[in-house]
Amino acid sequence: MPFELPQLPYAFDALEPWIDTRTVEIHYTKHHATYLANTNKALEKYPEFFEKTLAEILSDLAKLPEDVRTPVINNGGGVYNHMIYWESMGPNAGGEPLGELRKAILATWGDFATFKAEFEKAGLTRFGSGYAWLSKKADGTLLIHSTGNQECPLSSGFHPIFTCDVWEHAYYLKYQNRRAEYLTNWWNLVDWSKAEQKYHS
Ligand code: MN
Repeated sequence: MPFELPQLPYAFDALEPWIDTRTVEIHYTKHHATYLANTNKALEKYPEFFEKTLAEILSDLAKLPEDVRTPVINNGGGVYNHMIYWESMGPNAGGEPLGELRKAILATWGDFATFKAEFEKAGLTRFGSGYAWLSKKADGTLLIHSTGNQECPLSSGFHPIFTCDVWEHAYYLKYQNRRAEYLTNWWNLVDWSKAEQKYHS
């Protein structure tokens, strides 16, 4: 069975006014859906990989046949990274981190403002297209980092907690070239209860 498009966890207009309805609609129904179609096409020759999850595949790229490794990194990564991006946000969200994740963030960065500044810097300094991430390392400590194109943190042994997509298609209609403003406003959308769940998973 080919992979299916992960469901968008809310309506297209749920992220207004921070991300406009049309951007969410195009991003999900065109960009995300195309990554899915191309992943399924790439793996047609090797249907045994449909028995695994995308997370399993992206965590162990060496197991992929060489002729489909790059298409799966680019497209399978695109499916997985967008799923984490949508799950990172929600309507009526924002505010500050909760629970154990809050403690870990404060222990690592000292205060919430410093943490936010470091995350925004990761997104702003990612040259070209990619993502800013909050991830958990194998030893349980937190890491802010960025990835290029559709490279997935799982492939580097990092467990994603949340991500902001900084490809231009994620913000262009409302913000045009103003990636910094998109990143600053993005905090209004972060679903900290989901982040807390991912921190514990
Ligand atoms: Mn995207």
